[in-house]
Amino acid sequence: SKEKKALYIIFGATGDLASRKLYPALYRLYSKGYLKDHFAVIGTARREWSDEHYQNVVKKAIDDIKESDKDAEDFSSHFRYQSHNVKDSEHYHTLKELADSLDSEYAIEGNRLFYLSMSPTFFGTITTHLRDQELVTQNGFNRVIIEKPFGTDLESSKELNDEINASFDEDQLYRIDHYLGKEMVQTILALRFSNRIIQDSWTSENLSSIQITLAENLGVEERGEYYDKSGALRDMVQNHVLQIVSLLTMDEPESFSTENVRKEKLALLESLKQPNVKDEFVRGQYQASEDGDCKAYRDEEKVDPDSLTETFVAGKVVIDSDKWRNVPIYIRTGKRMKEKTSRIDVLWKKTDQQLFDESDSLLTIHISPKEGLELQLNDKEIGPGMHLRPVTLSSMRSEETIRKSPEAYEKLLLDVLNGDETHFAHWGEVAASWKYVDHIRQAWNEDLESIPFYPAHSMGPKESDELLAKDGQKWLYNP
Ligand code: NAD
Repeated sequence: SKEKKALYIIFGATGDLASRKLYPALYRLYSKGYLKDHFAVIGTARREWSDEHYQNVVKKAIDDIKESDKDAEDFSSHFRYQSHNVKDSEHYHTLKELADSLDSEYAIEGNRLFYLSMSPTFFGTITTHLRDQELVTQNGFNRVIIEKPFGTDLESSKELNDEINASFDEDQLYRIDHYLGKEMVQTILALRFSNRIIQDSWTSENLSSIQITLAENLGVEERGEYYDKSGALRDMVQNHVLQIVSLLTMDEPESFSTENVRKEKLALLESLKQPNVKDEFVRGQYQASEDGDCKAYRDEEKVDPDSLTETFVAGKVVIDSDKWRNVPIYIRTGKRMKEKTSRIDVLWKKTDQQLFDESDSLLTIHISPKEGLELQLNDKEIGPGMHLRPVTLSSMRSEETIRKSPEAYEKLLLDVLNGDETHFAHWGEVAASWKYVDHIRQAWNEDLESIPFYPAHSMGPKESDELLAKDGQKWLYNP
């Protein structure tokens, strides 16, 4: 049977992420039979909640997707709540007793998954206590799932990693980068290495540029306090953007084993050229929208009214290898942009022929909310003469297909259950990414008098367009 035995202990069970992502993902695994009779969840957080209240919160979180009331009832009956202060050793004893009793009640045989859905400042404290207060079992697997952000720079992430490693080995750690769970991000390697037409032309002789856009429509919402200290570079570039860069440019792995994929991703991330920040990176911060519908970043709740934090980053990533040195990878991410879109555009060079005035050959990988592939090529205009018209071969997934396909958290949580670490960020990758990002951050910190602004609901400051114009390029996605 595909059923896996598992006891989850979720730290931060009253939080936004738990309700929005984790409970729905666990429910989907339950409805598909991966979780069944031998499964229980202990939710912990500071608040005093009863089991009944907690189960109601869980039911509410799956209200839109439940198959029936009875099904939701059965699912939520596996949940217990334990109020808990992560800094208090005594509380871990209580937690251990509850965990042991649920382990025998549901015959789970020692498999434990510790989900740290809390501020990273607590990760070290929690993992140390889990080991010292013996919540770690001897008879089953023990896996720790960690949310972002993993540190705020290389040094702090190293400290955090050492602290966690004192209690858990690297192969017990699952650092979530939810982009790695997205269908269209996982498609990248399939597309690159299963199609000769793509594989053979995915080289610096043929490619003109690769462009990655991760654009959000929303502002900082309730996360002002965190975001104002973080900014877009740390919040998005260090993890999601650089992970996507590595998938787009890594060498072909020997196999899809975790080890082989990691090896190639790591080699790629370690070969990123330190950018000349002044010329190659641009930051920006959103101002109020022109129609006055949204306020400026500085007027958001819990944001410093003089803040110089960037809500937008654009940059030119260069890979220091013969294979890639001549292909610029333009990246861009920001809040309060014109549209919510994650996509990759790959542009080929023009042919050497003199016969035609051709349009660009262009591949677009739509990551979200649209999912699918579009390939733009030149076709001949119908009728006399040899005139061209650009056509787009398109394979877009329908809304229904998207709705039915597993969501990133569901896929990643299933991977954790199966002990498959391929789609998680390995420590080496995290460290290489921080090193790259720290260099940019330091250059910006030395020049902290001002920041370019952009109106909310635009595609960023003009400096972002100028960055590409210098190279004779332009953003291919320009809504
Ligand atoms: P949240 O602020 O909504 O929830 C935090 C949780 O931690 C709450 O349950 C709170 O009770 C608990 N907590 C705080 N201090 C505690 C203490 N001393 N003892 C016990 N419990 C304590 O946060 P969230 O949005 O759910 O995010 C959780 C984690 O996931 C964070 O690391 C965040 O960076 C990350 N994350 C969140 C999102 C998101 O969309 N919300 C996305 C990506 C990553």
